[in-house]
Amino acid sequence: MKITPLIASTFTSDGGTLFGLVPKTLWSRLMTPDENNQVPQNANSLLVTLDDGRLGLIETGCGPASRFTEKERERNGLGPGWPLLETLATLGIAPEQIEFVVCTHAHWDHIGGLLAGTPSEPTRAFPKATLYLHAQEWKDATSGDPLLYKAYPRDLIDPVASLYADSITTSKSTEVDVVPGVSLVHTSGHTTGHCLVRLHGEAIELDHPDSIFFFPPRQVLYLGDLAPTRHHLRLVYGTGYDIFPLDTRRWKHRNLPDLARDKVPVFFPHDPDLFGTTLSPHPKLEFAPDKPLRIEFLPGKVPPTANA
Ligand SMILES: [Zn+2]
Repeated sequence: MKITPLIASTFTSDGGTLFGLVPKTLWSRLMTPDENNQVPQNANSLLVTLDDGRLGLIETGCGPASRFTEKERERNGLGPGWPLLETLATLGIAPEQIEFVVCTHAHWDHIGGLLAGTPSEPTRAFPKATLYLHAQEWKDATSGDPLLYKAYPRDLIDPVASLYADSITTSKSTEVDVVPGVSLVHTSGHTTGHCLVRLHGEAIELDHPDSIFFFPPRQVLYLGDLAPTRHHLRLVYGTGYDIFPLDTRRWKHRNLPDLARDKVPVFFPHDPDLFGTTLSPHPKLEFAPDKPLRIEFLPGKVPPTANA
């Protein structure tokens, strides 16, 4: 298996919402907010090449700028164009070649890239892809529950549900291999059906210049919004969006010590500087990145701040 990190989108979030309970005096030392309290975010994806040559994506980011009104682009600080498809094109990959897409959850910044076209005429971005999600996540996303209307807006969920109707595969399992070596692992926390993605195999090739620093991994974890950025590795640093903050904390408390000991690379979906890293225990920070995959060295990529 080969894993190629890609930036699917760049956007901004309110810093207070991103850091939940953490006071601004603390988080603003980690990420500098602009005059509207916004901080830069990436939507980071992984291109996965299976040993049999099949191609797939872990996460799709926000989708093309053309899918949003000017007001929406401005409000979300969404960068121009469509970094995901542009980067795939530089790698010589057409959307038709993507055979599977695995998403941690169904928020706009994770499944928005399933749609191309315009707000009034959405189309399917990956015509031949099977979409994998946790059953609970898809149930909540399509429930029409008024309590969740902001998390799962109809103008996103309805077109994904209808355009991918024959291609959505869900699972209720705690952990399931959706394709060989790619597991959806249910975590709860950020959403009821939130999952991380565990990639595992005999020899995982990380397609990134910094991977020279890594011991060849047999598994890597894409953490989803358990830890949107490296700063969220700390136990109480959760986002304000988390439905079950204690589940996010419990997962970190149980798993980060082993991941640090075993030097398992972990990937962050929204960190604007650092795509992934191995971890070491740290006397103040609890766990700190030790061998990072830096964003600025992604193949064919413009650093995200240049787009923001
Ligand atoms: Zn997210």
